[in-house]
Amino acid sequence: MNDLDQMNLQLAQNIAAALREMKAENERLRSERDHYRTKYFEAQAEIERLMAIIRALFGDWPEPAIEYMDGGDVQDFGVAHRILVPVEVDEPCGDWCACAEYGDFPTTCYRLAAEFRGSET
Ligand SMILES: [Zn+2]
Repeated sequence: MNDLDQMNLQLAQNIAAALREMKAENERLRSERDHYRTKYFEAQAEIERLMAIIRALFGDWPEPAIEYMDGGDVQDFGVAHRILVPVEVDEPCGDWCACAEYGDFPTTCYRLAAEFRGSET
């Protein structure tokens, strides 16, 4: 092998090593991109959910929908926007729960979604 062939082989080895590093880095970036893309879509879905609540309540301003809502409307609104979670129960959840006053079981208990409950310390 002459010197030129030797140099070309060394160059090819260096390029191959650089390619392996670049491909590994691109894989890492793809994985990071997928992670942030998922986070983006989760945040976007939450933004749209919250915007739907604002529009439902204030979209017809200065005649806010809430002015015309009775208790049933508020309950339906809460369920539609995942603020209230309907749970079928065969007995009262506890003395503390609104369904305990209802008395006729089985019934649907409407609970405030976990993310809106305060910390119970
Ligand atoms: Zn209950």
